Amino acid sequence: MSNAETGPAALRCGAFTERDRPAGSPHVDVLSAREVPLGGPRALRVRRTLPQRKRTLIGAWCFADHYGPHDVAASGGMDVPPHPHTGLQTVSWLFSGEVEHRDTLGSHALIRPGEMNLMTGGRGIAHSEVSTANTTVLHGVQLWVALPGEHRDAARDFQHYVPELAQADGAEIRVFLGSLLGRTSPVRTFTPLLGAEIVIEPHATLTLAVDATFEHGLLVDTGDVRLIDAVLRPAELGYVPRGSATLTMVNEADAPARAVLLGGPPFREEIVMWWNFIGRSHEDIVKAREDWEASSDRFGVIENFPGGRLPAPALPNAVITPRRNPPAV
Ligand code: MN
Repeated sequence: MSNAETGPAALRCGAFTERDRPAGSPHVDVLSAREVPLGGPRALRVRRTLPQRKRTLIGAWCFADHYGPHDVAASGGMDVPPHPHTGLQTVSWLFSGEVEHRDTLGSHALIRPGEMNLMTGGRGIAHSEVSTANTTVLHGVQLWVALPGEHRDAARDFQHYVPELAQADGAEIRVFLGSLLGRTSPVRTFTPLLGAEIVIEPHATLTLAVDATFEHGLLVDTGDVRLIDAVLRPAELGYVPRGSATLTMVNEADAPARAVLLGGPPFREEIVMWWNFIGRSHEDIVKAREDWEASSDRFGVIENFPGGRLPAPALPNAVITPRRNPPAV
């Protein structure tokens, strides 16, 4: 997906901020979403929980949009023309609907519920995403992963993965990235990551063993989910700092609850995010924008796409500088 804000703010992301807290007493920070139009004539709206002022990354996860359920007959569905990415991977995961993906690697793939598309746009890639005629209700998440400095110019790549359903007491889990419940996704990433869809039965309690060196985020789609000491409502993201070897979640609703669990070790680099680009400096962003506007080979061309591509918005007036990470607690 593209960041369709007309005047996107430049974000200086310094991820590694942990509160001073007693060992073994994780506390959940509840991050609320803000609504952002995705663009197009009838502007599908998405709920964005990352990045935000309070927190810019969870592990290398640097962008989280949650959308739907949208009645496509009313909203017009998803129609995102070719747009570029640098320095990141996009992770697409649907709860309902079907989206057609094309990119400048030559990939042409459909994504359906329970299937993950992961696209790597290190040095540069462009893609389009359009919901298909089979889609009546569109519902899912779009996530981005920041690439570490040594891999930020990685070659274009595209991976499609359909995880097996894992059963736990009172829950069903699909592990699309990393390891959970003894299931490990074969999908390649550049930093350790966790990504899983979790469906919890009404009033069931789920305790998951997790990597204590990871920080975690639970993005709730439906239901009211108590995560440790906080109740998360739909579209809220609960952040748990590293140090927890288990995560306990309770579905407090009378219907099944669904959430996406994200995790990874704290990302210790300073990055600069603007529009659909991640770099390390203002100059990186200016160059990426220039290259896209000049139709550079850096991003390539999507064959057979009916229609134009997304122009980059204007750059902010101020020079974008990366923020120093605060010292580790
Ligand atoms: Mn995109």
